Amino acid sequence: MKRFPAYIQLSDRAVPIIGGGDEAAAKARLVAAAGARPIFIWPVLSADLRRDWAGQADFCHRYPEIGDFFAGLPTFIACEADGSRWARMARIAGALVNVVDQPGECDFTTPSIIDRGHVGVAVTTNGAAPVLGQQIREQVESLLPERIDELALFAQQYRPAVAANIAKEDRRSFWREIFNGPVGAQVLAGDAAGAHEAMLARLNCPSSNDNETGVVHIVGAGPGDPELLTMKAFRLIQNADVLVYDRLVSDDVLSLARRDAERVYVGKAKANHSRSQTEIEQILVDHARDGKIVVRLKGGDPFIFGRGGEELQTVRDAGIPVYVTPGVTAALGCAASAGMALTHRDCAQAVTFVTGHASGDQDPDLDWASLAALGNTLVIYMGVTKAEIIAERLISHGRDHTTPVAIIENGSCANQIIVKGTLNGLAALVDNNKIIGPAILVVGEVAALASESALRNITDAHNRSAA
Ligand code: SAH
Repeated sequence: MKRFPAYIQLSDRAVPIIGGGDEAAAKARLVAAAGARPIFIWPVLSADLRRDWAGQADFCHRYPEIGDFFAGLPTFIACEADGSRWARMARIAGALVNVVDQPGECDFTTPSIIDRGHVGVAVTTNGAAPVLGQQIREQVESLLPERIDELALFAQQYRPAVAANIAKEDRRSFWREIFNGPVGAQVLAGDAAGAHEAMLARLNCPSSNDNETGVVHIVGAGPGDPELLTMKAFRLIQNADVLVYDRLVSDDVLSLARRDAERVYVGKAKANHSRSQTEIEQILVDHARDGKIVVRLKGGDPFIFGRGGEELQTVRDAGIPVYVTPGVTAALGCAASAGMALTHRDCAQAVTFVTGHASGDQDPDLDWASLAALGNTLVIYMGVTKAEIIAERLISHGRDHTTPVAIIENGSCANQIIVKGTLNGLAALVDNNKIIGPAILVVGEVAALASESALRNITDAHNRSAA
């Protein structure tokens, strides 16, 4: 360790800052966030600084004097000239000195920080590479749940009760279980009432956690690219005991889970044997009843053609805490990949999402007349095998046969394919490009704006030259 890290209590303390420009203001923000009152000491204090800090800091328009510094407390030297001279003076007064941008002159340095109330993380490279420190801070930040401070406060509240009920040698494992288990999951999901109830149950039965109920998170995994996950989905996947996932959840997303997490595949490929919806719901309930943190990962968004609503209801009816995290639905992910807005001032005032799937092998039962009359953007999920019928019905109900269409297969993934055409050629577009899905069909003027996939063009060019 190059230096000793320590958090200093500064609330209601005065912190001298030597300087009157931007650097001085930056340091003032830092100490003010910890509850200290900055005193700017310098002959020239910028107008911005005086305006921004009016009422929240003291101003001394002069050079510093030895009586300005406080023994044992931090001081910042943030002036353009004579830094070492003021540092010497501060040190004689017994202050701890930081000279901006001169690590060699510093008694202490300021790390890159994550400030979440009671929870703080400080990252330093000891002046070797401050930008690297910032980058590490960003990486750590993305792993911290938004409600981490609430979790710390929750724990603080229960410390006396835990001390009274749990033997000293068991406390560490008890707390770990609380933070990583269902109680922590409920606090982090914003369900304070549920968390208190679960915590009290746990404290009343400290010797065993056999009766503890888990939680279920229904999580949107997005269209495939793991970078399109929400930060919350990312964190939940990493913290899951059990992942129950569909066919459309990409391997890249699954690989984010802990290695020891249990993975349960419940994919519903059309022609394959698949778990029935009832079985899937039972799997969620059973694992949660075992006290597990269950993440039900669904492609795209769980509430768009995903039967997420049914799963939510069943788990809730079983008396198990259940939370939903949205995801980027295929239409939005694909539109972004294709550089095609789904609504457009000039030609599409609305967008409609429909499913081309119907029970059994029947034709989709949609209100064709209304869909054809809308004249806006129509996004069809699960429509590949019914492309011919869909086009035929839309045209026979009045949609122009030259309406632009686009097909996006494996949108946002490395094997993405984007092709374009017109409505009367939709079925041929599927056949000629060997589209098998998952793919969405987009019908409407905006489809003309889609950029056809470079990937397919490169592959074709390669095949042609090889032939
Ligand atoms: N809940 C999902 C949709 C599930 S239905 C969501 O919000 O996206 C399954 C259909 O979604 C597929 O048949 C296909 O039409 C579409 N789909 C899912 N992922 C896709 C992707 N990466 N590219 C194109 N279409 C996709």
